[in-house]
Amino acid sequence: MRRVYLDNNATTPLLPEVFEAMRPYFAERFGNASSIHHHGQETRAAVENARESVADLLGCRASEIVFTSGGTEADNLAISGLAKAGDHVITSSIEHHAVLHAAKHLEETGYEVTFIPVDGRGLVDPADVRRALRPTTKLISIMMANNETGVVQPVEEIGKIAAEAGVLFHTDAVQTAGKVAIDVARIGCHALSISGHKMHAPQGVGALFVKKGTRLQPLFYGGRHERSRRAGTENVPGIVALGEAARLAKAALDRGGDKKIADLRDRLEQGILAQIDDAGVNGAGAPRTPNTSNIHFDGIEGEAIVIALDLKGLAVSTGAACSSGAIEPSHVLLAMGLRPNQARASIRFSLGKQTTAEDVDFALALVPETIARLRELSPVYRKTAIGS
Ligand code: PLP
Repeated sequence: MRRVYLDNNATTPLLPEVFEAMRPYFAERFGNASSIHHHGQETRAAVENARESVADLLGCRASEIVFTSGGTEADNLAISGLAKAGDHVITSSIEHHAVLHAAKHLEETGYEVTFIPVDGRGLVDPADVRRALRPTTKLISIMMANNETGVVQPVEEIGKIAAEAGVLFHTDAVQTAGKVAIDVARIGCHALSISGHKMHAPQGVGALFVKKGTRLQPLFYGGRHERSRRAGTENVPGIVALGEAARLAKAALDRGGDKKIADLRDRLEQGILAQIDDAGVNGAGAPRTPNTSNIHFDGIEGEAIVIALDLKGLAVSTGAACSSGAIEPSHVLLAMGLRPNQARASIRFSLGKQTTAEDVDFALALVPETIARLRELSPVYRKTAIGS
């Protein structure tokens, strides 16, 4: 059966070039990068080379990159490492749980946290961030692009507000890196998180940019790895892969590669909307990453759509998290003002570097008939009643 994968915001396939780059570091180049002999020097050089490539993607110095086990660790390191009990932290209501739950945990342990709302397009208003500032504010953490909708936040404006107020600024760029050009100096951030598996490197590796001179409390205690910012023997194959993925992503962005993905995404989105009534793009009207389209198909359950499409070979997802057996409507879509049943009826299509025009045709052939069939079976869908 033909299978088409449009769930690249969940994870991306490893690029063959990335796999080739990391492969030797599983076996013949096995040294501990802290060892002073040949084997260690070999892997140390590979780690530092990867650091240069990641720094090049983000527009920073190599010494400002801290390798981590992924986006979740990078986010937690930033949130816990840049503020302390008694400090006030500003974040948004649409953050990934890696930030949201870290911030909620801080709140329980003596920090004060303000969760900024978003408008109907999923955008944070920088004026709200300014209004939330207090004399005790230490950190602002607002994501660069949302994982569910792809909506890109006005991070440069928020960076300016942070600079004027003398407050630290962290941004979660896990869903941005490799899709949109990133320049940490333009953003004006002190910390920025990325994750390998969202940019065609493997799962279990990521990085945090930490601006030179920024004091960071580590999460782990141990050796002096990563300039004492992240103890633990480096995941050399993962780091090498992240470096190669960053190098390829930078080259593709410089060639305008994001335009190709944006064209495919737009064709998919417009084709779906042209063929299906009572559907709409979540985040329409806001700047979005080129690969993501989140669409509500009123009157049916997102889970049912995902399962029906999967049976026909198309992998997509709902943004919703499944907790304690119940399908919770997405906190992101609810924060944007969607009704719970509309949030539950939403599907995320996310394209990757490997997505082809034929993949989009396949989806366009499948989605309308699947939605029509599910709506026929739906006890709640009445075409005329929707929107009234
Ligand atoms: N932040 C965002 C915006 C994400 O989309 C994700 C993963 O879905 C993460 C953080 C967590 O990254 P990781 O899976 O590498 O821990």
